[in-house]
Formats: sequence, structure tokens, C-alpha cells
Amino acid sequence: MEFIPYDLPLRIPYRWAKGEQLTRGGLLSCCDLDGAVGWGEMAPPPHENVDGPARVAEAQAAVDGLDPRDDNFLDQVDARSPYERIRCAIATAWLSAQAAAAGQSLSAYLAADDETPATQVAVNGLVTDGDPQAAAETARRLVAEGARTLKIKCGAARLNDLVRVRAIRRAAPDAVLRLDANEAWHPDWAAEHLSDFADFGIDYVEQPIPAGDDAALAKVRRESVVPIAADEGALDADSIRALLAADAVDALVLKPQRLGGPDRTVEIIRLAAAQGVRCTITNSLETAVGVTAALHIASLHRPPVPDCGFGTSRFFAQDMATPPPIVDGHMTVPTEPGLGVTPEYTGG
Ligand SMILES: [Mg+2]
Repeated sequence: MEFIPYDLPLRIPYRWAKGEQLTRGGLLSCCDLDGAVGWGEMAPPPHENVDGPARVAEAQAAVDGLDPRDDNFLDQVDARSPYERIRCAIATAWLSAQAAAAGQSLSAYLAADDETPATQVAVNGLVTDGDPQAAAETARRLVAEGARTLKIKCGAARLNDLVRVRAIRRAAPDAVLRLDANEAWHPDWAAEHLSDFADFGIDYVEQPIPAGDDAALAKVRRESVVPIAADEGALDADSIRALLAADAVDALVLKPQRLGGPDRTVEIIRLAAAQGVRCTITNSLETAVGVTAALHIASLHRPPVPDCGFGTSRFFAQDMATPPPIVDGHMTVPTEPGLGVTPEYTGG
């Protein structure tokens, strides 16, 4: 297993709750099983500075002395409890190398006997504009480009958010609309605020209140006319089990990086499905390698696959490979053996 640090310039500054990024650093992982090659990626939270050599050393320590040709290689890695995102890189590379060796795509390799991977996954559009008119314009453009689901970032500006969503609904009457509050609302008024959105046919709201209080989220859900999703609270298998046990969610937003890789994410998709909870997969501002891995994972959601948050390649001025193109709002899941994307890296 080999690890390759990257540091890529962004074409569009990536603005998010904790700041603004102009470059993106992370690691690629490569696993070569006697010619069957698999790739993976470790992408840190956007605000985290990546010390390439230190991260490579940390990843290397998780696999040192282990033989990827062992069937229980991943169990041996897990016994060392690596950082989830490094575990994601290792697991993605190893599983896609295993898939390549079996002559299967990653999704076909991960599929249970009664699962057939979807051939395509729809990609949601993102509306962040604070100004209602600008937000409506963005919505109109995204729908014209093929998006059928729009995710609208909301905040504590309750009245303005209402005006924005009304303008977006008018500009995109047929789109599926989701809200993302990123924990900005108070449990005391979240459900009441959601009733203001009742007329707009909202698919779900992501993380309306701060993560960590499942009982409070369950109460918001009971009182809300809008379905509830957890994102920041869907940290790992334990927190997701707790959310499901508390009946706190209708949907989960899953990031394979945060959960530790494709196998763990697919496990959670199945666990959630058993309780009627659907999962939207999103990537973490990853290169084409991470986006493609997430695409394979999403294809294993039982139909209909929720439209996913994969439209992030446009942020990169330079990528490690060619990302799956978005055609008419959809990405096509690669069917060739392995991950189905090869970085333009020739070894070093
Ligand atoms: Mg979110």
C-alpha cells in the first residue's frame, strides 16, 4: 500500500461554516494486489491543514508489516484503530483492488446477493446565496443544468430564509427542495419555524438543531411537518445507532470519509434501510478518486437512490483524475473492474 500526498489549487474558493479554503490537501492511497490496482483517498475536514509527510507516516503506520494479500487485512488495520479518514483511504484502495482482482466494479463487489447497484446517481444542486433574488437565479440555473434536487443552506436569519425559499420554490416549482440548517436553529423554535415552510413541500431539513441531543431532535421531528435528517450528528456507527433508536431521523447524510470508508458506509445504509430511514451520500470536497468511491457507495442504496451531494469537482482548478461527468443531473456509476478511475500519477 502506497500513500501519495496532494495539495491542489481550487478554482472557486470553498466557503463553509468554519471559513474559506483556497487549496485542498489530502492523500491518495494505492493498493496493488499482483497487478489488480485499487485507489482510495483520505480527505481531511476542509479547515484542517494537511502536513503531507506526517499524514503519510500516520497512514503508513496503520498498514506497516501487514500484507494486503491477507483476506483479513482490513481487520488487522482496524485492530490499530486508525483515524477514520485514513481508514477510509486504506479500505477504499484495498476493497477496490479486491474488486479489480475479482473482475468486478467496486459497487458490484460490495453488493450483497440481493442488491443490484444503480447504474446512475442523481446529483443535487447547492444554493447558498443569501439574497432571495440571487438564490432564485441560482435555482433556475441549476434546474436548467439538469438538477432535480436543490439543497438550500439556511441559517438563523429566519425571515430571510423564508423569503429565499419562497423565491426558490417559485423559480423551481418542480424541484425537490432540501434545507440545511447546519445546527443553527434552537430546539425551542425549530419545529415552529419548519411549519413556516409547510407550503413549499420540503423533502427534509438537515441538522436543524445542534448535534448531540437525540431526544431534542426526536422531539423536533415529532412536532415538525418537515422530515428531519441528521448530518453533523451522523458521526459514526454508534451515534447513528443512537439516532435510529431515538426515532430522531427520517434521513441520514453520510460522508464515507467521516465513517471510515465504503464498507462501513454501506453497512450503515443497510442498517438505516431496515428502519425505513434513507441515506444521502455526500463527499467531503474530495478529488475524483473520493467522488467516484462515494458514487459506488450511493449506488448500493435500495431504489430510489436519494439525489446525492457529489457536485464538488467544479471547485478544483486541478484534479488527480477526471471526475465522473454530471450529465443531465446524473453521474454514471463506473462498471469496469475496481474503482473505475485512475489518477494521473505514475509513481515516484
Ligand atoms: Mg449538512
